[in-house]
Formats: sequence, C-alpha cells, structure tokens
Amino acid sequence: MSPEKAPEIAKGEKIYEGKAKVLYKGTEEGTLIQYFKDDATAFNAQKKGTIAGKGIVNNKVTELVMKHLERIGIPTHFIKRLSDREQLVREVEIIPLEVIVRNTVAGTMAKRLGIEEGRRLERPLIEFSLKDDDLGDPLIAEEHILSLDLADEEELSEIFDMTHQINDFLRGLFAGVGIELIDFKLEYGRLYDEDELGYRLILADEFSPDNCRLWDMETGKKLDKDRFRRDLGGEVEAYQEVARRLGITL
Ligand code: 5GP
Repeated sequence: MSPEKAPEIAKGEKIYEGKAKVLYKGTEEGTLIQYFKDDATAFNAQKKGTIAGKGIVNNKVTELVMKHLERIGIPTHFIKRLSDREQLVREVEIIPLEVIVRNTVAGTMAKRLGIEEGRRLERPLIEFSLKDDDLGDPLIAEEHILSLDLADEEELSEIFDMTHQINDFLRGLFAGVGIELIDFKLEYGRLYDEDELGYRLILADEFSPDNCRLWDMETGKKLDKDRFRRDLGGEVEAYQEVARRLGITL
C-alpha cells in the first residue's frame, strides 16, 4: 500500500475537514470529492491516532458497498472512485442524524443498558443519534426527530425502509466472507432537483470498518475500529483483512 501522500486529483476548494475525511468541491457543479485520511479518533476525539493505510481501505470498501447497494436499488451519493484515497460523490444536504443499526448488542448499547456484548437481538434495531460532536452525538427518539423537524414522517419511513434493506443485504455480503455484521452507522442526505422544487433521499457518507463492527464468525476476532478504540492492537492488519476477504486489491 502506498503511504499517505498529497492528493493528486484536480479539486475545488476544501469545504470541510472531519476526523477521518476531507471534502473538496468537485470540478463539476453539484459534486464533491471525499478524501479518506489515515487519522483515527475515538470517544468524541478524546483519543487520537493514525491507522496506516486506513484511508485506502475505507475508500475501496465504501466503493464496493455503495456499488452493491446501487445494484439492489438503494440510491447513494457515490459516483466513482478517483484514486486510492479519493472518490467523487454527489453534494447533498446532510440530514443531521446518525442512523445506527444493531444486529447484536455491543458498544454504547451494551454500556447504556447493562447488557453483555454479543447478545443477538431478536430483530434488528434502528437507533438515531443527533449528529453533533459538541454534544457527543446524543441518542434521540423518533419523536425528537419529528418535533424538532430534523426529518418528516415520510422521510423517516423511507429511512427505515432503506436502512432495513441495506442491513439485510450487508449481513449477507459479510456472512459470505465469514464476517458477522454486528452494527453500523449510516447517514442520509437530500439530493435536490436542478430546479430545487423537489428532492430525494439518498445514502451519503461512507461504509467502512470505521463505522461498523465486524466480528470474525469463527473466532469472534474484531475486525474494525474497536481494535483502535480499545487498544487491542493489529488494527492495520484487521482493516486489510476486511478488504482482502471482500476481494479488494489494495
Ligand atoms: P456505538 O453507539 O456502539 O458507539 O456505535 C454503534 C455503531 O455505529 C458502531 O459500528 C460505530 O462504529 C458506529 N458509530 C457510532 N457513532 C459513530 C460516529 O460518530 N462515527 C463513526 N464513524 N461511527 C459511529
């Protein structure tokens, strides 16, 4: 894998720099370039570090997942991968929600409810957090979303439908390579028509070992960002392993 280096693709101005990604204006109207960094943060950026080559894995895993999802009829912001660390996406108005899907209890759910990690849920659970770093992305109810007008009922219903479809598909995809999809986080955005009269909801952001939990089905080994969060070591190899199992060349 090549080391992190200056991006080579022609881009517009930098519009946002997050913990793991940078967004630039694309050269065409209505497009952005997502640049994936090796920087890693956890616990609301209280823990900081880097995972060598993570940006390349996340860019390529996101590409593979988004292409699969488009094929099963989920609209996404992904247009094409431009380089090892960059992909061209459609510019959307991000809905300020983290849509969290859980198949098995882990992470904050285990802590909040005092349940041991690893308990399989009777049915997948969809939770929402308000996307607000200063507040630590607090968990909110559907009623908060509607009362605060973060999204309307029609949008929420669409988010539930798409999210369940995505979960069903991705559980199968990962099971096929011996990995259990424990939980993950999605973000959606509104893509406006050219006349700005209408819009549709599309999947945005990324899907990578940074925003999901992946456990090896045979050994239970964690193959995701929990290796970094919990100081388990071997995070570089774990990210590479996920890519390798999905048939991705790094
Ligand atoms: P938890 O609520 O247990 O911390 O996270 C549930 C799932 O959502 C995990 O797969 C975790 O990686 C993902 N997730 C939750 N919040 C965030 C976030 O702010 N950023 C990222 N990248 N993933 C998140």
